[in-house]
Amino acid sequence: MDNKFSKSFLIGIDSDGCAFDTMELKHKECFVPATIKHWNLQAVSKYARETFEFVNLYSKTRGINRFPALMETLRLLFERPEVKARGLVKPDLTPLADWISRETKLGNPALIKEEQREHNPLIKQTLEWSLAINEAVDAIVGEGVPPFPFVRESLQKMQSQADVTVVSATPQDALVREWKNQNIDQYVAEIYGQEAGTKKEALEKAIKSGNFTTNHVLMVGDAPGDLKAAQAVNALFFPINPGAENESWKQLYNEGIDKFFNKTFAGEYQNQLIEKFNSYLPTTPAWEKNK
Ligand SMILES: [Mg+2]
Repeated sequence: MDNKFSKSFLIGIDSDGCAFDTMELKHKECFVPATIKHWNLQAVSKYARETFEFVNLYSKTRGINRFPALMETLRLLFERPEVKARGLVKPDLTPLADWISRETKLGNPALIKEEQREHNPLIKQTLEWSLAINEAVDAIVGEGVPPFPFVRESLQKMQSQADVTVVSATPQDALVREWKNQNIDQYVAEIYGQEAGTKKEALEKAIKSGNFTTNHVLMVGDAPGDLKAAQAVNALFFPINPGAENESWKQLYNEGIDKFFNKTFAGEYQNQLIEKFNSYLPTTPAWEKNK
């Protein structure tokens, strides 16, 4: 059997907001306009944008898959008094909630199948929204943006002892394009996108194929979901702190990788990193605190 993994350590790296500074660009310029258009939020566009950005960029749910993120955005949005005052009616999201609870490969291929099977108008609307996002990302992100400083250097340093994989909730073809365009795909053994399942499932798959043992697996990410995925498979976690990405990558390059390879990462060092990371993103929206 062809095994892409040959080294004794495994490092999983998230892509958007972690390796690349693409979160703001993708969410603000691509996701938000598509969401306002496809969910008929024109009358409350200001609140829709603020709520969407809170869920996807500036809170503990940062970086979650687009479909649960949509559910959470609409839930919070339709609770806002300003939105209630406009008399907008929240769409019934039950068919989407059902699909999310049954499916782990939360991407367009699985959603297309669901649409063909159920012929549900809400699923059709969700699919049109999701396809519009991909189109906007293709058009606006285009050739992409370079990775954060110290990403390339870190990838090179990791090569000596670790197999590196991309572990992301972004569609696979966008990931391949972005890593290839920046010429850093050469450093990775495998790219797992949203069609491969959750981040936990992707890590599990890699751990199993390469027979990696405890304390030999590290996840690098910028969102609490990345930390959760790491903990679920008993992996170590290095946070790229939102807003302090350059410093984080520099620290990973100068210190974190060595500690991981020397087996001095687990314990105190790991705890300190997580504690700091947890202070970066809020759980409660500012508009609720000000009520
Ligand atoms: Mg991310």
